[in-house]
Parts: sequence; C-alpha cells; structure tokens
Amino acid sequence: MGSEYAGTVATDRALEALQALVRIPTVSLPDEAAMDATTFEELHAELTRQFPLLHERLERHRIGVHGLLFHWVGTSDARPVVLMAHQDVVPVDESAPWQHPPFSAEIHDGAVWGRGTLDDKGALVGICAAVEGLLAGGFAPAQDVWLSFGAREEVLGVDAELAVETLQSRGVTPWFVLDEGGAIAHDAFPGIDPPLGVIGVSEKGITTVELVAEGRGGHASTPEAGGPTARIARAVTRLEKRPLAPRLPEPTIRMFEQLAPYAPTGMSLLFRNAARLRPVLTQALLRSGPEAAALARTTMAVTTLEGSPAYNVIASRATAGVNLRVTVGDTVASVVEHIRRAVADDSIRVEVVEANEASPVSPSEGPAYELLAETVAAVFPDAVVTPYVMMAATDARYFTGICPQVYRFTPFRMSRAQREAIHSYDEHLGVQDFLAGVTWYRRLLEAIT
Ligand SMILES: [Zn+2]
Repeated sequence: MGSEYAGTVATDRALEALQALVRIPTVSLPDEAAMDATTFEELHAELTRQFPLLHERLERHRIGVHGLLFHWVGTSDARPVVLMAHQDVVPVDESAPWQHPPFSAEIHDGAVWGRGTLDDKGALVGICAAVEGLLAGGFAPAQDVWLSFGAREEVLGVDAELAVETLQSRGVTPWFVLDEGGAIAHDAFPGIDPPLGVIGVSEKGITTVELVAEGRGGHASTPEAGGPTARIARAVTRLEKRPLAPRLPEPTIRMFEQLAPYAPTGMSLLFRNAARLRPVLTQALLRSGPEAAALARTTMAVTTLEGSPAYNVIASRATAGVNLRVTVGDTVASVVEHIRRAVADDSIRVEVVEANEASPVSPSEGPAYELLAETVAAVFPDAVVTPYVMMAATDARYFTGICPQVYRFTPFRMSRAQREAIHSYDEHLGVQDFLAGVTWYRRLLEAIT
C-alpha cells in the first residue's frame, strides 16, 4: 500500500484517505460522556490503514484519551519540528442547508464536501500523506519531526497541554511548531487582488466575564426602581459606549506594509507608512466594519442575558455574559479593569469565567518563518505572504510555553465563502487545493535542514 505514495506528487490515495476520515464523525462535545468515543477509535484504525508506513516507522504515543503524538526520528534532534492538526470536528446543525450530506465526503464541482474538510482533517491527512510519501521514497528528515494530533481541540480540551508535557518530559524543545490557522486566503481585503498567504504569529485570547447584579426580587406587581435587570441593562449599554482603546499590534502593521504594493492607490500610501501613520490607519480600520475593527482592538460582545424565569417574577439575580477577544498588548487584568470602570457600578460583580491572554508574538523573520514563507512562495507563487494575528483560538497556544516560534498556517486555498463555512455549513475543500497542500507539507519536510 505504501508504494502507492512513492511518486513525487500527491496522488488519489491522499484524496481517498481524506474522504475516509471525513466519513468518520469525530464530533467533540464539551461533555465528554455525551460523545461517541468509538468514532475516535475508528479514526485511529482508519489512519493505520491509510498510512501503514507512518505507523510502522514512527513511534506512536497516546495522549490523554484519544490524542496522538508521533515521533519521526531525524538525522539530528537538535532542532525538532512539531506539525499539528486535530482529529475532532464541531457538531453539525441538522437544520442547516448543507448542499451535500456533511459526513459523506462526496466530490462535487472539483471539491470534497463535508464537516472537517477545512477544519482540520484536510491538514491531518495532508501531513500524514506527505510523511507517507516521503517514507515510501526512503526519505529521512534532517531533524526530528513530531506530529501532534489532538482529539479535543474544538472544546478547548487538554490534549495539546498533555502533548506539551510529554515533549517536555522527553527534553524536547521545538525549533518551531506549525498548527492550523491562516491559509491562502482569497478575497481577504477589498481592493486587493492576489490571495494572501497569512501566517498566524499570535492569536487573540478568548476571555469571558459575567456581570452579576443581585436584589430583593419579588412580585412583578410591586416593582422597585433600580432592580437587578435595570442595572444589568445599564451596564450593558455603558460597555457598548466604552469599547477598549484601539491597539494595532506589530504583526498587523507588518501585514499592511506587505499589502501596500497591491493596495488601491488611495490606500497604498497609508499601508506603506503603516508604522508611522498608525493612528490614522487605526481609525480607518475602526470605521471599516466589524471585521476590520477587530484587527484594531480587543473586542467585547455581550452574548448571554439572564433575568427572571417567569413573566410575573422580578429577578433577584440578573446576569450578562461578555465574551472578549484579548489582543496583543492588552491583558485579561487590564480588560477586566476597563469593564469595571466602564460599568461604574459597585453593586455589579464582574466575575471572570475563563481567562486566556493573547499568545506571545512569534517572530516574522528568521530561519523558521522564512522556511514557511519560502515554501508558501514555492507552492503558491501568486500569494502575498504576510504575518497576522489570528482571531480564533488554536491548540498551538499551549506550545508557546516551550517554543518561541509557533506558527498557524493551513496550506489550502480558501475563498471567503469557504472560510465562512468553517464551523457552519457547506464546508468544502477543492481537490486540487488539497493536493497542493499535501505538496506543501512535503516540501516543508524536505526543506528542513
Ligand atoms: Zn480547527
């Protein structure tokens, strides 16, 4: 079976492997007991079937319940590399209008359709197919390579943390870590034609706080002014009026500088001088809609509201959940302090439900970043390579504690519609784009020195 990967280009075998894996619904849920654990065992069995050489030659470790960590011994162990992907997918909303069944991996219009094609089984199979192909050709990597495939990424599970612990206990300090994240993003910015090869060098931290107001409650026929619901409502409108101070992190500045040559005349000058004109650029972003504004500050969204469970009962407790995406330069402590000051009401408690800082910024220069950037340029010559700060959370953030060079990039071309389909419906990955991704991983492994 392995010999079918012997060619220098990715073949149909990789596509079949992707289809086989997408058909196994490895849905992760916050409540582990409610999950179908057998799907993960099935996935492991399928991986073994699809990638026999990988399973024969690499050392396999179980991480947590269903996490996998493979060790590919290289010529040297001085600068080990970690490639990551995750096995689990988010659930499918049965009422969503999928054009093709989400777990059938059908091929239509030159694409594989299904949950997980983009997030993140495409990368999982891409990495494995690249390794299998290289093994079939008798290749040995110049450095140790570790493959870390968590099974609880979508529910912020512990697999990645445990993988980090395992690496630490073996004295492994990665030279660089590569996880999902950026892509070859088509139609990323209005007015900019070439696709962007965006490499995530940091990610915002997901933090949630709850505002809690308490009071006497009682019967709705005898209300009192300033009850818990009224105070929560006032707190929410105060937050809306006082967003966090804008902040344009260094990688974002760098991104605009890289885009300058491709920007329309009006914007090009501003982009080229992004560092010097930081305040002007920041204001322009804040005025350009929610996506652009999110680049320029820690965002704050009131997501849940709760009061009394009955129409005729005054709430004795009212709450509002605030989801924050903490950007580089802000901290959980500083944004919580901002919320306290903005709410300006001592009777409201601000409780931190989950706290995650923005990830440290990995360098967007130096040999590791250059290696990634050059491999992007080689496989996707039309793309403009640029660092950026990711808005979503990945397992990669756990690795920042043991490695200063953590990058987030998935080597697939994605249209805007495809990016929007992630965690939504109609997720699909172009067949040629998938195969180009396999080639990308393969070239990356070959280029490590
Ligand atoms: Zn993912």
